[in-house]
Amino acid sequence: MGTISEVAWPAEASGAQPISRQAACRLLRANHETLPALLAAAQAARAKFKPGVVTYSRKVFLPLTNLCRDHCGYCTFRRDPGEPGAHTMTPDEVMEVVRAGERMGCTEALFSLGDKPELLFPQMRDTLRHLGYKSTLHYLEAMCEKVLRESSLLPHPNPGLMSAEWLHRLSRVAPSVGLMLETTSARLLARGAAHDNAPDKDPVKRLRVIEDAGRQKIPFTTGILIGIGETLEERVDALIAIRDLHEEYGHVQEVIVQNFRAKSGTPMAHWPEPDHVDMLRTLAVARLLMPMMNIQAPPNLSNPDYADLLDGGINDWGGVSPLTPDFINPEKPWPHLEQLQRHTEAKGFELRQRLPVYPEFAEQAAAHSDLLAERLNAAAGADGYARKRAA
Ligand code: SF4
Repeated sequence: MGTISEVAWPAEASGAQPISRQAACRLLRANHETLPALLAAAQAARAKFKPGVVTYSRKVFLPLTNLCRDHCGYCTFRRDPGEPGAHTMTPDEVMEVVRAGERMGCTEALFSLGDKPELLFPQMRDTLRHLGYKSTLHYLEAMCEKVLRESSLLPHPNPGLMSAEWLHRLSRVAPSVGLMLETTSARLLARGAAHDNAPDKDPVKRLRVIEDAGRQKIPFTTGILIGIGETLEERVDALIAIRDLHEEYGHVQEVIVQNFRAKSGTPMAHWPEPDHVDMLRTLAVARLLMPMMNIQAPPNLSNPDYADLLDGGINDWGGVSPLTPDFINPEKPWPHLEQLQRHTEAKGFELRQRLPVYPEFAEQAAAHSDLLAERLNAAAGADGYARKRAA
């Protein structure tokens, strides 16, 4: 059994102070026997931050368009125009899913979509012209506003890279906005790597978006994707880059740690997946690097052992849908909410439904428009979580 001293345990790991880069790299590389001590430290840090509660967001997933100008090596979501399954949702389709979500107690409308497909595909320009919009972002903005005005759901858009102006526009119709950093490794843009032929995955551009959101105080969701070819040091650097931006601007409401899953038919179909221990170790190191931030891991990418992820110090399961599949990972269905609740409670936590914006960031979100303030007020209970529905 490894002891704390064997991994040269950093003194700061037991407090609310973040551990250093050097300590994080050492803990990620430490031997297997040190894992229990690492997990215990992560759990102690979470208990100082948010004791006893683990959250999730009950959502519908709206793949507004799966056309995308990038080609990430692991992606099965994207399509070219005319390919089987290529689709851009109409406003009626959006609202049909939103209405069904309302009936099932959902409070988040997650818009996930390919990055600026109209720049590459004339067919997308035609589709947008028919719909009456100049660009995918104009269409997204209109759909967010429609959902906000006409339903009880709150939109959370994930449209890829955005300018500062577009962040501002979306922040008026959505309480939080998302963009996965994924990695800070520019090496992964090289020929044959995960982000070869994915110009929008340039980490410099993605960090710029997160910083622009910070300058505008927009509650922001981001995170890393592990196991796509980054080194362990690069993984730590990505977490630190996010933490540093949050320290400067105070706007990163949650950090997702997502594990790569190999999908058949993609260039990375035979790439090794990070194993469960790697995931646990990364979560624990993330918790110690950012002890006072919300850390999320998606349960469906670690089925059937997802409850173990709580041992790594996470405090959120992210968006879980009782209605729509995970269009990004369609082969990995979300757990049933009753099961998620059972497993979370078995680990000693209360499972709470949150809104797409965390309670502590709701004020920041509401400052962006009167409409948002009004809708947030209607959706949140006194403690800032989703208002409980009458039985
Ligand atoms: S992961 Fe996103 S940006 Fe990359 S190809 Fe898929 S849809 Fe496009």
